[in-house]
Amino acid sequence: MTEKLTQGELITPFGGTLVQLLVAGEQRKVLLEEANTLPSIQISSRALCDMELLAVGGFSPLDRFMGKADYERVLHEMRLSDGTLFALPITLTVDEAQIKQVGDRIVLRDARNNLMAIMQLEEVFAWDPETEARLALGSTDPRHPLVSEMIRWGKVCISGALTVLNLPLYYDFVELRRTPAQVRSLLAEMGHTNVVAFQTRNPLHRIHEELTKRAAAEVGGSLLIHPVVGMTKPGDVDHYTRVRIYRTLVENYYDTHNTVLSLLPLAMRMAGPREAILHSIIRRNYGANHFIIGRDHAGPGKDSTGKPFYGPYEAQELFQQYADEIGVRPVPFKELLYLTEQGEYVEVTQVPPGAAVSSISGTQVREDYLAKGQLLPEWFTRPETAEILSKMYPPRHQQGFCLWFTGLSGAGKSTIAEIVAVLLLECGRQSTMLDGDVVRTHLSRGLGFSREDRDVNILRIGFVASEVVRHNGTVICAAISPYRATRDEVRKMVGGQDQFIEIFVDTPLEVCEERDIKGLYVRARRGEIKGFTGIDDPYEQPVDPEIVLDTTISTPAENAQKIINYLEAHGFLQPNVIHSQANGYARV
Ligand code: ADP
Ligand code: ADP
Repeated sequence: MTEKLTQGELITPFGGTLVQLLVAGEQRKVLLEEANTLPSIQISSRALCDMELLAVGGFSPLDRFMGKADYERVLHEMRLSDGTLFALPITLTVDEAQIKQVGDRIVLRDARNNLMAIMQLEEVFAWDPETEARLALGSTDPRHPLVSEMIRWGKVCISGALTVLNLPLYYDFVELRRTPAQVRSLLAEMGHTNVVAFQTRNPLHRIHEELTKRAAAEVGGSLLIHPVVGMTKPGDVDHYTRVRIYRTLVENYYDTHNTVLSLLPLAMRMAGPREAILHSIIRRNYGANHFIIGRDHAGPGKDSTGKPFYGPYEAQELFQQYADEIGVRPVPFKELLYLTEQGEYVEVTQVPPGAAVSSISGTQVREDYLAKGQLLPEWFTRPETAEILSKMYPPRHQQGFCLWFTGLSGAGKSTIAEIVAVLLLECGRQSTMLDGDVVRTHLSRGLGFSREDRDVNILRIGFVASEVVRHNGTVICAAISPYRATRDEVRKMVGGQDQFIEIFVDTPLEVCEERDIKGLYVRARRGEIKGFTGIDDPYEQPVDPEIVLDTTISTPAENAQKIINYLEAHGFLQPNVIHSQANGYARV
């Protein structure tokens, strides 16, 4: 089904005609019955977001998960097989075993087994995560949130015509969830030809308010505040908090006759420049013809060597090249500064010489205000925003964290972890201990040491750890966790950068082997244990762990104290609460 739309200049393939895959009425009823007789697969939450945007026309003219020809050409040339610009792969991956017995149709279900769509199975093709990462993301570094996710996707992509029977059901902010056609119609009612869209995955502060209002005034049109609520960067402020902020701001501080706040169920890829192109294509479909694009758009932060994945203006430059083809004009994100004395925001170029300016970076918001329980100042953010954020983010010393020990068997992980647990108790902090050896006797009983089993074990530990931290608890994990990508995956599960503290117990193999407290190395050398870490299975050292411990020069108690010092320095523990000396015995 397609829907012809008339708003704006419809000179591009995007939004001129919206592809919509959702069927209704009698046809839907018949298909619902049929669907129950067909084999089905469950799709990931990312694929579900993608399916929704395919269904409602957000990715128009793309009308299916990509087939091989589209996929290959998008990877290499950023174009669908018919030549239409498209920035990133949209695929549905499965494991071959899942489709072995399947005929020509397959039902797609969500994680709770709700029926979503029927796919006409037309193509099955292999794909390679490394190639996709290199071409689409420009990096294969597992610190890139999509890279560490991709290696877990299914080994083949499936594609074919989609008939969507149900859209994902939402119970939150229902009134703000609209299809492209609904957004277009709201914008049309506002009566402006020009519409400027603003993409965001962060809370809105005064600076964003200023620049969105100025952008709308500049183009003489309406403003579409279009936050992503599908999947964003791990560790971002959750969408419930963000949407409460957006809604309050729009109601209290924006011209509601000229502003539409609508939620976008996109699963972001954090692909920087290419993602900027995808974002603008999507916004074109939702009826915008201008798009605000800033510094480091859709940037995933820094790679494992500490370098940003993308240059700060790469996204703007790439977007500029394709703007005409998409039919969306870039509105450069103005660099605004707050003049402390005059009490107003001005463009960087208009700051009088010598004038005092104030600014607070994102890191300072977290570290200097929220983590310390300080309310953000009114010049920086509206009081409503400050209050919502402070309720959601208690001070750092009331937040949870995960101490993740990694290192060879016998490195000293458990020994040091147990001392840390005691020192934390001394500070009045309970912790949950997830020791690799112990976990393998309950949570992970029956798992062995194949690559798959080790990953399952670590991901189980990671899952429990993330739940503990989410409830502001303290968790100490001590497992070899030999694979870097799996540790990075757990880092994401636990909540991005701050609350996951990776501790590399850097004891050389020779030392562990000499200690051989469990007598395992000697058996591994004799070949009695196969796939032993460090002997005939790899241990991938962390690239940039928060803490590195040397057990050949420091005692377990000294190393435990280093961890406590780190926690104090980062505000997780209030200083001076601990009285133990480094040797673990003396008291003051
Ligand atoms: P893992 O949990 O890493 O497999 P364990 O903590 O179970 O390792 O074993 C480490 C062994 O090494 C313990 O028997 C511990 O007493 C011994 N050891 C000797 N020196 C140190 C040190 N400086 N730090 C930690 N452990 C040490
Ligand atoms: P992983 O991170 O690999 O799941 P765990 O810390 O959960 O590791 O468990 C590793 C422990 O299991 C080691 O300390 C060792 O006592 C024991 N072990 C048994 N077989 C192996 C093996 N093939 N490789 C590493 N450790 C093994």
